[in-house]
Amino acid sequence: MSSAEDIHGQTTAATAVVRMAEIEGRGRALVASKALRAGEVVLRDSPILLYSAIPLKPSSPSPSLSPSHRHQHRDYCSNCFRILEHSSPSVVSCPSCSCTAAAAAVLGGGGGGEAGEYLFCGPNCRSAALASSHTPWVCQALSRLRDYCPSSLPLLHHHQERQLQARFLVAAYNLAIVSPSNFRILLCLQGKSPAQPDDAALFLHALIFSLCPPPAPHGSFSFSLELTAALLAKDKLNAFGLMEPLAKDGERSVRAYGIYPNASFFNHDCLPNACRFDYVDASATATATASECNTDLVVRVIHDIPQGREICLSYFPVNLNHSDRQRRLREDYGFTCTCDRCKVEANWSDDEGDEEEEEEETEEAMDEDHDQLMEDSTEDGGVNEENNFPHAYFFLRYMCNRKNCWGTLAPLPPSNGIPSSVMECNVCGDMKNDDAP
Ligand SMILES: [Zn+2]
Ligand SMILES: [Zn+2]
Ligand SMILES: [Zn+2]
Ligand SMILES: [Zn+2]
Repeated sequence: MSSAEDIHGQTTAATAVVRMAEIEGRGRALVASKALRAGEVVLRDSPILLYSAIPLKPSSPSPSLSPSHRHQHRDYCSNCFRILEHSSPSVVSCPSCSCTAAAAAVLGGGGGGEAGEYLFCGPNCRSAALASSHTPWVCQALSRLRDYCPSSLPLLHHHQERQLQARFLVAAYNLAIVSPSNFRILLCLQGKSPAQPDDAALFLHALIFSLCPPPAPHGSFSFSLELTAALLAKDKLNAFGLMEPLAKDGERSVRAYGIYPNASFFNHDCLPNACRFDYVDASATATATASECNTDLVVRVIHDIPQGREICLSYFPVNLNHSDRQRRLREDYGFTCTCDRCKVEANWSDDEGDEEEEEEETEEAMDEDHDQLMEDSTEDGGVNEENNFPHAYFFLRYMCNRKNCWGTLAPLPPSNGIPSSVMECNVCGDMKNDDAP
Protein backbone atom coordinates (compact mmCIF):
# COMPACT_ATOMS: atom_id res chain seq x y z
CA MET A 1 0.00 0.00 0.00
CA SER A 2 1.40 3.34 -0.88
CA SER A 3 0.62 5.95 1.71
CA ALA A 4 0.94 9.64 1.12
CA GLU A 5 4.01 9.51 3.30
CA ASP A 6 5.81 7.07 1.05
CA ILE A 7 5.20 9.08 -2.05
CA HIS A 8 5.55 12.45 -0.57
CA GLY A 9 7.67 12.05 2.54
CA GLN A 10 10.79 13.52 1.06
CA THR A 11 9.21 16.80 0.10
CA THR A 12 7.16 17.08 3.24
CA ALA A 13 7.49 19.36 6.17
CA ALA A 14 10.32 17.45 7.79
CA THR A 15 11.42 20.73 9.26
CA ALA A 16 13.44 21.01 12.44
CA VAL A 17 10.28 21.27 14.50
CA VAL A 18 7.64 19.01 12.94
CA ARG A 19 7.71 15.47 11.63
CA MET A 20 5.26 13.17 9.95
CA ALA A 21 3.77 10.39 12.06
CA GLU A 22 1.02 7.83 11.82
CA ILE A 23 -1.51 8.33 14.60
CA GLU A 24 -3.84 5.49 15.55
CA GLY A 25 -7.29 6.26 14.19
CA ARG A 26 -6.25 9.50 12.52
CA GLY A 27 -3.86 8.42 9.81
CA ARG A 28 -0.84 10.52 8.99
CA ALA A 29 -0.31 13.68 10.94
CA LEU A 30 2.27 16.35 11.67
CA VAL A 31 3.56 16.22 15.25
CA ALA A 32 5.93 18.42 17.22
CA SER A 33 9.39 16.91 17.13
CA LYS A 34 10.37 19.04 20.12
CA ALA A 35 8.63 21.17 22.72
CA LEU A 36 7.40 24.32 20.99
CA ARG A 37 6.94 27.82 22.37
CA ALA A 38 3.86 29.92 21.70
CA GLY A 39 4.24 31.78 18.43
CA GLU A 40 6.94 29.54 17.04
CA VAL A 41 6.91 29.09 13.27
CA VAL A 42 6.42 25.41 12.43
CA LEU A 43 6.17 25.71 8.68
CA ARG A 44 6.77 28.17 5.89
CA ASP A 45 5.36 26.82 2.65
CA SER A 46 5.38 28.12 -0.91
CA PRO A 47 2.54 27.41 -3.31
CA ILE A 48 3.06 25.06 -6.25
CA LEU A 49 0.02 26.61 -7.92
CA LEU A 50 -1.95 29.83 -7.44
CA TYR A 51 -5.10 30.96 -9.17
CA SER A 52 -7.27 34.01 -8.96
CA ALA A 53 -10.48 33.79 -6.97
CA ILE A 54 -12.07 36.58 -8.98
CA PRO A 55 -14.78 35.25 -11.30
CA LEU A 56 -13.74 34.97 -14.95
CA LYS A 57 -16.41 37.42 -15.84
CA PRO A 58 -17.26 39.63 -12.89
CA SER A 59 -20.99 40.18 -13.00
CA SER A 60 -21.95 43.74 -13.68
CA PRO A 61 -23.41 45.27 -10.57
CA SER A 62 -27.15 44.81 -10.60
CA PRO A 63 -29.11 47.88 -9.61
CA SER A 64 -31.52 45.67 -7.70
CA LEU A 65 -28.85 44.73 -5.21
CA SER A 66 -28.24 46.90 -2.21
CA PRO A 67 -24.77 48.44 -2.12
CA SER A 68 -23.66 45.99 0.56
CA HIS A 69 -24.26 43.08 -1.80
CA ARG A 70 -22.29 44.59 -4.62
CA HIS A 71 -18.89 43.57 -3.45
CA GLN A 72 -16.28 44.96 -5.80
CA HIS A 73 -13.06 43.06 -5.92
CA ARG A 74 -9.94 45.11 -6.05
CA ASP A 75 -7.40 44.43 -8.75
CA TYR A 76 -4.43 42.23 -7.99
CA CYS A 77 -1.20 41.49 -9.77
CA SER A 78 -1.80 38.30 -11.74
CA ASN A 79 1.53 36.93 -10.58
CA CYS A 80 2.17 37.91 -6.95
CA PHE A 81 -1.45 38.82 -6.07
CA ARG A 82 -0.47 42.05 -4.33
CA ILE A 83 -3.01 44.87 -4.56
CA LEU A 84 -2.49 46.81 -7.77
CA GLU A 85 -2.26 50.56 -7.53
CA HIS A 86 -3.49 51.72 -10.91
CA SER A 87 -1.77 55.03 -10.47
CA SER A 88 1.57 53.26 -10.26
CA PRO A 89 3.62 53.77 -13.43
CA SER A 90 5.07 50.28 -13.15
CA VAL A 91 1.75 48.46 -13.76
CA VAL A 92 1.97 46.51 -17.01
CA SER A 93 -0.43 44.27 -18.86
CA CYS A 94 -0.06 40.91 -20.53
CA PRO A 95 1.19 41.49 -24.08
CA SER A 96 -1.11 38.81 -25.51
CA CYS A 97 -4.36 39.85 -23.89
CA SER A 98 -3.31 43.46 -23.77
CA CYS A 99 -5.37 45.29 -26.41
CA THR A 100 -8.36 45.67 -24.18
CA ALA A 101 -6.39 45.42 -20.95
CA ALA A 102 -4.16 48.34 -21.80
CA ALA A 103 -7.16 50.41 -22.70
CA ALA A 104 -8.79 49.53 -19.41
CA ALA A 105 -5.63 50.46 -17.51
CA VAL A 106 -5.48 53.81 -19.23
CA LEU A 107 -9.08 54.39 -18.34
CA GLY A 108 -8.25 53.81 -14.74
CA GLY A 109 -9.13 50.16 -14.28
CA GLY A 110 -12.43 50.74 -12.62
CA GLY A 111 -11.96 48.09 -9.95
CA GLY A 112 -12.07 44.65 -11.46
CA GLY A 113 -13.27 45.45 -14.95
CA GLU A 114 -13.19 42.30 -17.03
CA ALA A 115 -10.98 43.71 -19.73
CA GLY A 116 -8.18 44.71 -17.42
CA GLU A 117 -7.91 41.37 -15.75
CA TYR A 118 -4.39 40.31 -16.52
CA LEU A 119 -2.25 43.08 -15.16
CA PHE A 120 1.02 42.85 -13.32
CA CYS A 121 2.60 45.06 -10.68
CA GLY A 122 5.73 45.42 -12.77
CA PRO A 123 7.89 43.95 -15.52
CA ASN A 124 9.45 41.38 -13.17
CA CYS A 125 6.13 39.83 -12.26
CA ARG A 126 5.07 39.90 -15.88
CA SER A 127 8.11 38.08 -17.15
CA ALA A 128 7.91 35.56 -14.30
CA ALA A 129 4.27 34.88 -15.12
CA LEU A 130 4.77 34.63 -18.87
CA ALA A 131 7.31 31.89 -18.24
CA SER A 132 5.19 29.98 -15.72
CA SER A 133 1.59 30.67 -14.72
CA HIS A 134 0.48 32.90 -17.62
CA THR A 135 1.85 31.14 -20.67
CA PRO A 136 0.32 31.85 -24.08
CA TRP A 137 -1.95 28.82 -23.67
CA VAL A 138 -3.22 30.02 -20.27
CA CYS A 139 -3.78 33.46 -21.70
CA GLN A 140 -5.78 32.07 -24.59
CA ALA A 141 -7.73 29.57 -22.49
CA LEU A 142 -8.78 32.19 -19.95
CA SER A 143 -9.81 34.64 -22.67
CA ARG A 144 -11.89 32.03 -24.45
CA LEU A 145 -13.53 30.85 -21.25
CA ARG A 146 -14.37 34.43 -20.42
CA ASP A 147 -15.77 35.14 -23.86
CA TYR A 148 -17.70 31.89 -23.96
CA CYS A 149 -20.77 32.93 -22.20
CA PRO A 150 -24.01 34.27 -23.10
CA SER A 151 -24.76 35.07 -19.50
CA SER A 152 -27.56 32.54 -19.48
CA LEU A 153 -25.10 29.66 -19.55
CA PRO A 154 -24.18 28.13 -16.24
CA LEU A 155 -20.41 28.53 -16.40
CA LEU A 156 -20.52 32.25 -16.17
CA HIS A 157 -23.78 33.13 -14.58
CA HIS A 158 -24.97 31.36 -11.47
CA HIS A 159 -22.09 29.08 -10.91
CA GLN A 160 -19.23 31.09 -9.58
CA GLU A 161 -17.85 27.82 -8.31
CA ARG A 162 -17.55 26.49 -11.87
CA GLN A 163 -15.66 29.58 -12.90
CA LEU A 164 -13.16 29.10 -10.13
CA GLN A 165 -12.88 25.40 -10.91
CA ALA A 166 -12.21 26.35 -14.54
CA ARG A 167 -9.44 28.69 -13.38
CA PHE A 168 -8.00 25.93 -11.24
CA LEU A 169 -8.06 23.39 -14.09
CA VAL A 170 -6.35 25.79 -16.48
CA ALA A 171 -3.66 26.40 -13.85
CA ALA A 172 -3.31 22.67 -13.16
CA TYR A 173 -3.02 21.60 -16.81
CA ASN A 174 -0.51 24.37 -17.29
CA LEU A 175 1.46 23.10 -14.30
CA ALA A 176 1.67 19.67 -15.94
CA ILE A 177 3.24 21.36 -18.94
CA VAL A 178 5.61 23.81 -17.27
CA SER A 179 6.51 21.84 -14.13
CA PRO A 180 5.84 18.08 -14.29
CA SER A 181 7.51 17.56 -10.89
CA ASN A 182 5.16 19.97 -9.14
CA PHE A 183 2.26 18.44 -11.02
CA ARG A 184 3.21 15.05 -9.60
CA ILE A 185 3.23 16.56 -6.10
CA LEU A 186 -0.27 17.90 -6.74
CA LEU A 187 -1.45 14.43 -7.77
CA CYS A 188 -0.06 12.93 -4.57
CA LEU A 189 -2.04 15.20 -2.26
CA GLN A 190 -5.12 13.97 -0.46
CA GLY A 191 -8.36 13.73 -2.36
CA LYS A 192 -9.67 10.57 -3.98
CA SER A 193 -11.06 10.72 -7.48
CA PRO A 194 -14.74 9.97 -7.49
CA ALA A 195 -15.75 6.57 -8.90
CA GLN A 196 -17.73 8.39 -11.55
CA PRO A 197 -16.72 11.84 -12.77
CA ASP A 198 -19.24 14.31 -11.37
CA ASP A 199 -21.11 17.04 -13.23
CA ALA A 200 -18.38 19.60 -12.72
CA ALA A 201 -15.73 17.34 -14.22
CA LEU A 202 -17.91 16.36 -17.18
CA PHE A 203 -18.90 19.93 -17.94
CA LEU A 204 -15.53 21.58 -17.48
CA HIS A 205 -13.52 18.88 -19.20
CA ALA A 206 -15.71 19.06 -22.29
CA LEU A 207 -15.70 22.84 -22.22
CA ILE A 208 -11.96 23.37 -21.88
CA PHE A 209 -11.05 20.68 -24.37
CA SER A 210 -13.40 22.08 -26.96
CA LEU A 211 -12.59 25.76 -26.44
CA CYS A 212 -8.86 25.52 -26.00
CA PRO A 213 -7.24 22.09 -25.64
CA PRO A 214 -3.96 22.25 -23.73
CA PRO A 215 -0.75 21.12 -25.44
CA ALA A 216 0.18 17.53 -24.62
CA PRO A 217 2.06 17.29 -21.34
CA HIS A 218 5.52 15.80 -21.06
CA GLY A 219 5.96 12.76 -18.91
CA SER A 220 3.79 9.83 -18.09
CA PHE A 221 0.33 11.35 -17.76
CA SER A 222 -2.16 12.37 -20.36
CA PHE A 223 -5.10 14.69 -19.96
CA SER A 224 -8.29 12.68 -19.58
CA LEU A 225 -11.69 13.09 -18.03
CA GLU A 226 -10.51 10.92 -15.11
CA LEU A 227 -7.52 13.17 -14.55
CA THR A 228 -9.78 16.23 -14.61
CA ALA A 229 -12.02 14.64 -11.97
CA ALA A 230 -9.00 13.72 -9.85
CA LEU A 231 -7.62 17.26 -10.07
CA LEU A 232 -10.92 18.77 -8.95
CA ALA A 233 -10.86 16.48 -5.91
CA LYS A 234 -7.35 17.70 -5.02
CA ASP A 235 -8.43 21.31 -5.34
CA LYS A 236 -11.43 20.82 -3.07
CA LEU A 237 -9.39 19.35 -0.24
CA ASN A 238 -6.14 21.23 -0.54
CA ALA A 239 -6.71 24.79 -1.72
CA PHE A 240 -5.98 27.52 0.82
CA GLY A 241 -7.58 30.92 0.31
CA LEU A 242 -5.51 34.08 0.39
CA MET A 243 -7.88 36.70 1.72
CA GLU A 244 -8.51 40.19 0.49
CA PRO A 245 -7.86 42.91 3.04
CA LEU A 246 -10.76 43.38 5.43
CA ALA A 247 -12.99 46.07 3.93
CA LYS A 248 -14.40 48.89 6.02
CA ASP A 249 -17.82 47.27 6.06
CA GLY A 250 -16.28 44.04 7.34
CA GLU A 251 -16.76 42.36 3.97
CA ARG A 252 -13.99 40.06 3.05
CA SER A 253 -13.45 37.56 0.30
CA VAL A 254 -10.72 35.41 -1.12
CA ARG A 255 -8.39 37.01 -3.65
CA ALA A 256 -6.61 33.84 -4.75
CA TYR A 257 -6.38 30.15 -3.98
CA GLY A 258 -3.13 28.30 -3.61
CA ILE A 259 -2.05 24.69 -3.35
CA TYR A 260 0.53 24.44 -0.56
CA PRO A 261 1.92 20.91 -0.57
CA ASN A 262 3.20 20.79 2.99
CA ALA A 263 0.53 22.84 4.74
CA SER A 264 -1.96 20.33 3.35
CA PHE A 265 -0.64 17.73 5.78
CA PHE A 266 -2.02 19.43 8.87
CA ASN A 267 -5.13 17.72 10.16
CA HIS A 268 -8.17 19.59 11.36
CA ASP A 269 -9.19 20.32 14.94
CA CYS A 270 -12.09 22.55 15.95
CA LEU A 271 -9.86 24.04 18.64
CA PRO A 272 -6.60 24.22 16.72
CA ASN A 273 -3.22 24.67 18.36
CA ALA A 274 -1.75 26.41 15.32
CA CYS A 275 -2.97 28.81 12.67
CA ARG A 276 -1.78 30.05 9.34
CA PHE A 277 -0.78 33.54 8.33
CA ASP A 278 -0.14 35.08 4.96
CA TYR A 279 1.45 38.39 4.14
CA VAL A 280 0.55 38.78 0.50
CA ASP A 281 0.73 42.57 0.51
CA ALA A 282 4.06 42.72 2.31
CA SER A 283 6.45 44.84 0.29
CA ALA A 284 9.01 43.16 -1.89
CA THR A 285 11.84 44.36 0.31
CA ALA A 286 10.27 42.78 3.40
CA THR A 287 10.41 39.38 1.74
CA ALA A 288 13.52 39.91 -0.30
CA THR A 289 15.37 36.75 0.64
CA ALA A 290 15.47 34.23 -2.13
CA SER A 291 13.72 31.54 -0.11
CA GLU A 292 10.81 33.69 1.03
CA CYS A 293 7.95 34.84 -1.10
CA ASN A 294 4.95 37.07 -0.35
CA THR A 295 2.53 34.25 -1.19
CA ASP A 296 4.08 31.84 1.33
CA LEU A 297 1.92 30.47 4.12
CA VAL A 298 3.38 30.69 7.59
CA VAL A 299 2.03 28.35 10.26
CA ARG A 300 2.63 29.34 13.90
CA VAL A 301 1.57 27.57 17.09
CA ILE A 302 -0.78 29.63 19.21
CA HIS A 303 0.38 28.34 22.61
CA ASP A 304 3.12 26.13 24.03
CA ILE A 305 2.99 22.57 22.71
CA PRO A 306 4.76 19.54 24.23
CA GLN A 307 6.97 17.28 22.14
CA GLY A 308 5.02 14.58 20.29
CA ARG A 309 1.69 16.43 20.28
CA GLU A 310 -0.12 16.64 16.95
CA ILE A 311 -0.27 20.10 15.42
CA CYS A 312 -3.65 20.96 13.90
CA LEU A 313 -5.24 23.82 12.02
CA SER A 314 -8.93 24.60 11.81
CA TYR A 315 -10.06 24.31 8.18
CA PHE A 316 -12.54 27.16 8.70
CA PRO A 317 -13.22 29.94 11.19
CA VAL A 318 -13.46 28.51 14.72
CA ASN A 319 -16.74 30.27 15.53
CA LEU A 320 -18.91 27.95 13.42
CA ASN A 321 -21.37 25.96 15.50
CA HIS A 322 -21.24 22.20 15.91
CA SER A 323 -23.73 21.23 13.21
CA ASP A 324 -22.25 23.63 10.66
CA ARG A 325 -18.76 22.32 11.34
CA GLN A 326 -19.82 18.71 11.05
CA ARG A 327 -21.72 19.38 7.85
CA ARG A 328 -18.79 21.17 6.30
CA LEU A 329 -16.28 18.49 7.27
CA ARG A 330 -18.57 15.75 5.98
CA GLU A 331 -19.39 17.46 2.69
CA ASP A 332 -16.06 19.01 1.85
CA TYR A 333 -13.56 16.69 3.51
CA GLY A 334 -15.44 13.44 3.95
CA PHE A 335 -15.00 12.82 7.67
CA THR A 336 -16.70 13.27 11.01
CA CYS A 337 -14.81 15.27 13.59
CA THR A 338 -14.40 13.70 17.03
CA CYS A 339 -12.17 16.35 18.55
CA ASP A 340 -12.58 17.27 22.23
CA ARG A 341 -14.72 20.27 21.39
CA CYS A 342 -17.03 18.24 19.16
CA LYS A 343 -17.45 15.60 21.88
CA VAL A 344 -18.64 18.28 24.29
CA GLU A 345 -20.83 20.09 21.79
CA ALA A 346 -22.41 16.87 20.52
CA ASN A 347 -23.93 16.57 24.01
CA TRP A 348 -25.25 20.11 23.85
CA SER A 349 -27.09 19.19 20.69
CA ASP A 350 -28.61 16.15 22.38
CA ASP A 351 -29.85 18.23 25.27
CA GLU A 352 -30.96 21.27 23.38
CA GLY A 353 -31.64 20.05 19.88
CA ASP A 354 -35.37 19.60 20.45
CA GLU A 355 -36.00 23.04 21.78
CA GLU A 356 -33.73 25.09 19.57
CA GLU A 357 -34.40 25.78 15.96
CA GLU A 358 -31.26 25.19 13.99
CA GLU A 359 -32.41 27.23 11.05
CA GLU A 360 -31.43 30.63 12.32
CA GLU A 361 -29.37 32.74 10.00
CA THR A 362 -25.85 31.45 10.35
CA GLU A 363 -24.44 34.88 10.96
CA GLU A 364 -26.78 35.48 13.88
CA ALA A 365 -26.16 32.05 15.26
CA MET A 366 -22.45 32.71 15.26
CA ASP A 367 -22.88 36.01 17.02
CA GLU A 368 -25.03 34.43 19.64
CA ASP A 369 -22.72 31.53 20.22
CA HIS A 370 -19.82 33.85 20.52
CA ASP A 371 -21.57 36.22 22.89
CA GLN A 372 -22.90 33.33 24.90
CA LEU A 373 -19.46 31.85 25.31
CA MET A 374 -18.03 35.21 26.21
CA GLU A 375 -20.67 35.76 28.86
CA ASP A 376 -20.40 32.33 30.31
CA SER A 377 -16.68 32.52 30.60
CA THR A 378 -16.65 35.96 32.18
CA GLU A 379 -19.31 35.03 34.71
CA ASP A 380 -17.09 32.23 35.84
CA GLY A 381 -14.11 34.48 35.92
CA GLY A 382 -12.23 32.44 33.34
CA VAL A 383 -11.38 28.81 32.92
CA ASN A 384 -13.37 26.25 34.77
CA GLU A 385 -12.81 22.70 33.62
CA GLU A 386 -15.90 21.54 35.51
CA ASN A 387 -18.40 23.63 33.61
CA ASN A 388 -20.00 22.99 30.26
CA PHE A 389 -17.70 25.36 28.43
CA PRO A 390 -14.21 23.92 28.72
CA HIS A 391 -13.18 25.82 25.61
CA ALA A 392 -14.57 29.21 26.55
CA TYR A 393 -11.01 30.12 27.43
CA PHE A 394 -9.95 29.48 23.87
CA PHE A 395 -12.51 31.92 22.49
CA LEU A 396 -11.66 34.53 25.03
CA ARG A 397 -7.98 34.38 24.46
CA TYR A 398 -7.42 33.21 20.90
CA MET A 399 -10.33 34.54 18.89
CA CYS A 400 -10.18 38.01 17.39
CA ASN A 401 -12.85 40.23 18.91
CA ARG A 402 -13.05 42.56 15.94
CA LYS A 403 -16.58 42.52 14.56
CA ASN A 404 -17.13 39.90 11.83
CA CYS A 405 -13.47 38.93 11.75
CA TRP A 406 -13.52 35.48 13.41
CA GLY A 407 -9.78 35.22 12.98
CA THR A 408 -7.50 33.31 15.32
CA LEU A 409 -4.82 35.02 17.37
CA ALA A 410 -1.28 33.72 17.75
CA PRO A 411 1.67 35.43 19.40
CA LEU A 412 4.39 36.87 17.20
CA PRO A 413 7.37 34.49 16.97
CA PRO A 414 9.56 34.36 20.10
CA SER A 415 12.80 36.23 19.82
CA ASN A 416 15.90 34.70 21.42
CA GLY A 417 13.66 32.14 23.08
CA ILE A 418 11.54 34.81 24.78
CA PRO A 419 7.84 34.53 23.92
CA SER A 420 6.22 37.63 22.48
CA SER A 421 3.35 39.27 24.32
CA VAL A 422 1.90 40.62 21.09
CA MET A 423 -0.97 38.62 19.59
CA GLU A 424 -1.59 38.87 15.84
CA CYS A 425 -4.91 38.07 14.16
CA ASN A 426 -4.45 35.75 11.18
CA VAL A 427 -7.38 37.28 9.32
CA CYS A 428 -7.50 41.03 9.90
CA GLY A 429 -3.89 41.44 10.95
CA ASP A 430 -4.70 43.35 14.12
CA MET A 431 -2.03 43.28 16.80
CA LYS A 432 -2.91 43.47 20.45
CA ASN A 433 -1.11 43.02 23.71
CA ASP A 434 -1.76 39.72 25.35
CA ASP A 435 -3.61 40.74 28.48
CA ALA A 436 -4.82 37.22 29.14
CA PRO A 437 -7.01 36.69 32.18
ZN1 LIG B 1 3.34 41.31 -8.86
ZN1 LIG C 1 -2.54 37.20 -21.12
ZN1 LIG D 1 -14.23 19.01 16.02
ZN1 LIG E 1 -9.14 39.87 13.34
